Amino acid sequence: MSMAYDPGNIFAKILKGDIPSHGVYEDEDTYAFMDVMPQAPGHVLVIPKVPSRNMLDADPAVLAKVIPVVQKIARAAQDAFEADGIFIAQFNEPAAGQTVFHLHFHVIPRHEDQPLRPHTGKMEDGAVLAANAEKLRAALAQAV
Ligand code: AMP
Repeated sequence: MSMAYDPGNIFAKILKGDIPSHGVYEDEDTYAFMDVMPQAPGHVLVIPKVPSRNMLDADPAVLAKVIPVVQKIARAAQDAFEADGIFIAQFNEPAAGQTVFHLHFHVIPRHEDQPLRPHTGKMEDGAVLAANAEKLRAALAQAV
């Protein structure tokens, strides 16, 4: 059973600029921005611009554009946050934990001995998100 894309979802509004976000990267096909309820400092979401509900309906050509950006952000996050590891997560439909129905990949820096905070837990301070976005943009600017 395939579910429809809702053009009123919050990430569609972010893409249109109707809702603010802390952007870290943008190109013709993708956008990456800070998760407002980070599970660890530096938690980024990478999304395609083409409307896609999740992996189940996405065009493989869209995935082919998004995954290299997920890698780019993961590498920048490793540098920017001196991460020991990078957790990449992606949920499909409510039963799997999806709460926003525009395809997105979570890119989350991990450190030894630091547990992940809960999924969709506490809102982060805007100044912290802005500072972490700046760190990521600086790391991306350094990347070859
Ligand atoms: P998921 O459960 O995979 O659909 O995750 C949705 C993610 O979007 C959660 O990690 C939320 O913290 C995050 N989120 C929700 N609203 C916003 C927003 N306005 N800006 C940035 N991240 C958001």
